[in-house]
Amino acid sequence: MTYFFETYGCEMNLSESAAVEQIFISRGWKKADDVQLADVVVINTCSVRATAETRIFGRLGFYSGLKAVRHMEPNAKTRSMETAAEYVKKNGPVTLTVIVMGCMAERLLKSLQKEWPVVDYVVGTYAKNKFGDIITAVEEGRKPFEIDDSPVYTFAETSYEEGAFSAFVPIMHGCNNFCSYCIVPYVRGREVSRPLDQILHELDILSARGVKEITLLGQNVNSYRGEDGLNFPGLLKKIGAYIDEKKSSIEWIRFESSNPKDFSDELIQEIASNRHVCTGLHVAVQHGSTKILKAMNRRYTREDYLVLVNKIKAAVPDAALTTDIMLGFPGESDEDFEEVLSLMKEVQYESAFMYYYNPREGTPAAVMEDQIPVEVKKARLQKVIDTQLKITSSVMSRYVGRTEKVLADIISRDNPKELLAKTERNERVAFEAPASLIGKFVTVKIESLNGNTFRGILVE
Ligand code: SF4
Repeated sequence: MTYFFETYGCEMNLSESAAVEQIFISRGWKKADDVQLADVVVINTCSVRATAETRIFGRLGFYSGLKAVRHMEPNAKTRSMETAAEYVKKNGPVTLTVIVMGCMAERLLKSLQKEWPVVDYVVGTYAKNKFGDIITAVEEGRKPFEIDDSPVYTFAETSYEEGAFSAFVPIMHGCNNFCSYCIVPYVRGREVSRPLDQILHELDILSARGVKEITLLGQNVNSYRGEDGLNFPGLLKKIGAYIDEKKSSIEWIRFESSNPKDFSDELIQEIASNRHVCTGLHVAVQHGSTKILKAMNRRYTREDYLVLVNKIKAAVPDAALTTDIMLGFPGESDEDFEEVLSLMKEVQYESAFMYYYNPREGTPAAVMEDQIPVEVKKARLQKVIDTQLKITSSVMSRYVGRTEKVLADIISRDNPKELLAKTERNERVAFEAPASLIGKFVTVKIESLNGNTFRGILVE
């Protein structure tokens, strides 16, 4: 039997889809090349923006049509669906099971199924352990059963994607912060940290498959709280020691998303002293004005953030800082906006994820007064993008001429004779090399910068 995944949203969703896919694979299922050929479709959803949900409703509309055609209901034969009907009649399975998981599933639960009868199972983030039973029910041709959302969050054994040299390792789930614009705490629930023994067990699995780089994942990764008071810097130390002791294939450790308010001095020291922890550091600021940060409920000021950045730069001179910046939050004045630009110039981010605020129903910010007109938001966004492009070019140019260890991971789409690799700072380098080097650490001399990708030559 065959499955097909549609995954929307963040790295956490990618990781959770990969973990669920492992269950299908372990049961002998095959990935369908095309959704038309799948027995089961899993839609892993995102609720962060209303537009993401609208898109998923569109997909549910599509699956309603496909399912109707598979069941050969005459009134479902629209012109476009006739083609699908013929196709399905000749090649495809005769049933379709639609499973919705992820944040939207958690947020809407049973009401989603009520509105969209095409959905057979709504699997909230706490009920992922039910996938084995769902697969059995589909294999046996049984009708969908009711799912009780378990009160306990369980982490999958591994999210490893076959053939990959990099892997996400979820270490915590949920968020306690309630930033005023964010739906995550409402849909993912309170923070749950993964026990150390489970994390180390996953590292063994990844090492057995030759993984070279891991990204520790969580909505608020540096607020990790394991057993016996194990905090995030302590976890990094233990992982570093473990991969040394086990002579693991894993060499590089990254983490995301980190919150500035939980970025302790101890964490900075651990990054500086742990040779496995990479120097590409994402520290999401969101805004440069203390007034707006307060309205966002970020729980740090502009000044706190700048002190943090200076400490990181002093302890980790090669740190490449990246960030998230949100424009057009309610109440953002021209002066507040100028503070964003001045902060960007002061910090000198290597890159930034820049976006404008979209009200999210169910969050405090959505009902705040003084919402900013969309054309103002767009104009401000364009200004920060232009500013960041210049900063990126200036910051990255510093590394031209260096010789660096990089992890070759894919063949370049533009030139099949070239590989793309990642530096420790998480930048991209293109260089000529045989495909046999994919998955290996190699040394490259950085010769030039093109946009935000280096060009280099293979040294060894
Ligand atoms: S820290 Fe804030 S933005 Fe991040 S997930 Fe939690 S509430 Fe959302």
